[in-house]
Amino acid sequence: MRFTSGRPSSDRGHDIARAMWPDVTQKDWNDWQWQFVNRVSSIKTLGILLGLSADRLSAYEGLVSTYKYAVTPYYLSLINWPDPHDPIKKQCLPDLRETTFRLPGSDEDPLAEERHSPVPGLIHRYPDRALVVLTNMCAMYCRHCNRKRNWKNQGERTLGRAALNRIIAYIKNTPVIREVIISGGDPLLVSLGFLDEILWGISAIPHIDAIRIGTRIPVVMPMRITDELCRLLSRRRPIWLNTHFNHPAEITDAAISACDKILKAGIPISNHTVLLKGVNDSAHTILSLCRALQRHMIRPYYLFHCDAVTGTDHFRTGIQKGIEIMNVLQGNLGGLAVPDYVVDLPSGGGKARVMPSQLVSIDDNMAVFKTFEGGDIHYLAPNGADSR
Ligand SMILES: *Cc1c(COP(=O)(O)O)cnc(C)c1O
Ligand code: SF4
Repeated sequence: MRFTSGRPSSDRGHDIARAMWPDVTQKDWNDWQWQFVNRVSSIKTLGILLGLSADRLSAYEGLVSTYKYAVTPYYLSLINWPDPHDPIKKQCLPDLRETTFRLPGSDEDPLAEERHSPVPGLIHRYPDRALVVLTNMCAMYCRHCNRKRNWKNQGERTLGRAALNRIIAYIKNTPVIREVIISGGDPLLVSLGFLDEILWGISAIPHIDAIRIGTRIPVVMPMRITDELCRLLSRRRPIWLNTHFNHPAEITDAAISACDKILKAGIPISNHTVLLKGVNDSAHTILSLCRALQRHMIRPYYLFHCDAVTGTDHFRTGIQKGIEIMNVLQGNLGGLAVPDYVVDLPSGGGKARVMPSQLVSIDDNMAVFKTFEGGDIHYLAPNGADSR
């Protein structure tokens, strides 16, 4: 496991970052605006990073104009270049298979989010929860993103005030909604003034019990977690923050210190991980990730099966792989560190939990369980007395 502050240093993984920004000061490196402005996104730099000849690079031109790429210097600095299977590189640098490899059943919008969108920018699938997509902008464009359609062939844009007002009006007029999830794109990239307006607007609605923020900022640009941002979030509690660590190599000093600030502001952090072929599809990797998350008080929430989204097929594993990993997690981790393995069903069927069950059989009198050590235990469980 690599614990690094993600800044240019003598660590060999940082050679490229040092070569690309030889004069960057520590202060600039730790400034999120510097990180954001210096995101790497050009086809020319991609050629240098991947060591491609001009001929081979031309094959990437179509790909990068369809699915853009942008990586913060920080996230780029986590790549261990000598490793051909580096999990960081696979998540942030384009791969030709995004446009060439297709498995049956993939779709731009397999979860039918557009069909469940009563007003632009809001997805209402479950009665009690609404999801707001505030922006299509992210600090880093994850190659496995399941909302790739939102940034495919498009520039970065954020909802305007009029659209936001329609969203707030919809939530106000829909009293069954009790939780609002602000997701993305990354909501922590909008201006603090606008973010506060949104949080204030939503939290002032009497039937809203909780706001959840979905963000990958602590993982890809942790410098954005400033004291000012934490004070703002703290004022609008109850807020839950859900982030997206996929691999232990992402748990750096900088990421931990960002999460620590959020926790100290009184905002609990949970994490979802996407099961990705070649990145984290081994029980050992997910187990180390969950342990590291728990050590830093981040609650593993979901292990997502990789959705059948066009442009991400090369990341998909079979569902059996997830079950196999869950079996190992359940036998080797305390309950607080075990995420739920979840498959988001096509056509807007919602999330389905796939948890290996220890219940072997059951009838009116007897349940048979498999123990964590592999034995069977018969449990006499007759019905209690009639309550009349
Ligand atoms: C995942 C999701 C939610 C939240 O579901 P939880 O199981 O509460 O995490 C809400 N709305 C939509 C559209 C979603 O995709
Ligand atoms: S941060 Fe989330 S929304 Fe943004 S590209 Fe990554 S997975 Fe997609």
